[in-house]
Amino acid sequence: MHSLRKGSDVLVIGGGIIGLVTAWRAAQRGLRTVLADPAPGGGAARVAAGMLAPVTELHYGEEALLGLGLDSAARYPRFAAEVADASGGIDIGYRACGTLAVALDADDRLHLRELHALQRRCGLESQWLTGRECRRLEPMLAPGVRGGLRVDGDHQVDPRRLAAALLAACERAGVGVHRAAAERLLVTADRAAGALLDDGTQLRADQVVLAAGSLSGRLAGVPADVVPPVRPVKGQVLRLTVPAAYAPFLSRTVRAVVRGSHVYLVPRENGELVVGATSEELGWDTTVTAGGVYELLRDAHELVPGITELPLTETLAGLRPGSPDNAPLLGPTDLPGLHLATGHYRNGVLLTPLTGEVMAQLLTTGELPPVARPFSPRRFSAARQESYA
Ligand SMILES: Cc1cc2nc3c(=O)[nH]c(=O)nc-3n(C[C@H](O)[C@H](O)[C@H](O)COP(=O)(O)OP(=O)(O)OC[C@H]3O[C@@H](n4cnc5c(N)ncnc54)[C@H](O)[C@@H]3O)c2cc1C
Repeated sequence: MHSLRKGSDVLVIGGGIIGLVTAWRAAQRGLRTVLADPAPGGGAARVAAGMLAPVTELHYGEEALLGLGLDSAARYPRFAAEVADASGGIDIGYRACGTLAVALDADDRLHLRELHALQRRCGLESQWLTGRECRRLEPMLAPGVRGGLRVDGDHQVDPRRLAAALLAACERAGVGVHRAAAERLLVTADRAAGALLDDGTQLRADQVVLAAGSLSGRLAGVPADVVPPVRPVKGQVLRLTVPAAYAPFLSRTVRAVVRGSHVYLVPRENGELVVGATSEELGWDTTVTAGGVYELLRDAHELVPGITELPLTETLAGLRPGSPDNAPLLGPTDLPGLHLATGHYRNGVLLTPLTGEVMAQLLTTGELPPVARPFSPRRFSAARQESYA
């Protein structure tokens, strides 16, 4: 039987870290907010490593995204304290530990030299180290490490704790959390007006935010020309445990490109060591494969041979919400009342503080702040129209 609920100011569809931060910030600003998700606080954050790495993850042509990442990274210390407070004391594991990107052979070294040059052109802080200097910093590194980049400003957070803290903060701020999936967007008089959930509930709201991660393009009822061009990009990750007797195993995030694949080791203060990640375009498949685990262990072992001594505690695969230009879609669509907060791809954890602020400002004032304007979903509707012209 369908039940009809009284309308809210805002409905957020999706309770991953992006939907949760949006709902929390909206409720903090006095908007009556509801959120729908069959498993809020889950999503890609259950798998993600939690690197906050705009400088080591810089790519050619992504300078605008760099600006967004740096802005969000700078907000993290204050954000972490605020979330801990708002959640009733959940520590999100923010750790200002820095990152070391290393090279194992001549090709990797060249690749890192190029990255270093690009970082310097962008005015970023990053220091070139010899292999010996890298090992002095991180004694567990393989003797074959040929050099590296020390980036003291790229940190980490624990995404699982972040998701749990945001869910608690939402509930404490009065967000109505519905543990059901949105089946269809409701559109009334050419305006988004809410959603029908798969338990029969209708949630009516003046504004709807679609934040369903890699599934954001699959909601029924969304007009074809505003469906977000988001796709799943699978990532497999391992979790190991560093016994107290081995600590400190690594003191910062260590990463490298090994035979063209990115591998990173992220050491948490509680002894967890996250090793990631594969990048696979395989639809919504989240199988952990022997091949994925093998490649991660092989590459991580080349970097830090001692990892084979550590207990392997978990293997998991998740889906990054990829977009055509690797940047998020933030802001209003061409359907009045429907906004997007999706497509954060490999940077969703990094971009959580900024996304919350930007979306709350949009929801309360109707204006997207200048920092987010280059990331409006309309950049793709314009491209679509050009391709049909
Ligand atoms: C292996 C891996 C490593 C990563 N490492 C990092 C990293 O180091 N640093 C970093 O910044 N980022 C990293 N990321 C990326 C980051 O995890 C994601 O960008 C981020 O978690 C996306 O959050 P989201 O809320 O947009 O989407 P999701 O986490 O996918 O959440 C979407 C939510 O929407 C819900 N949903 C879907 N459909 C519906 C519906 N119809 N109705 C209601 N709810 C629905 C789902 O249940 C889910 O809870 C990594 C990701 C992966 C997979």
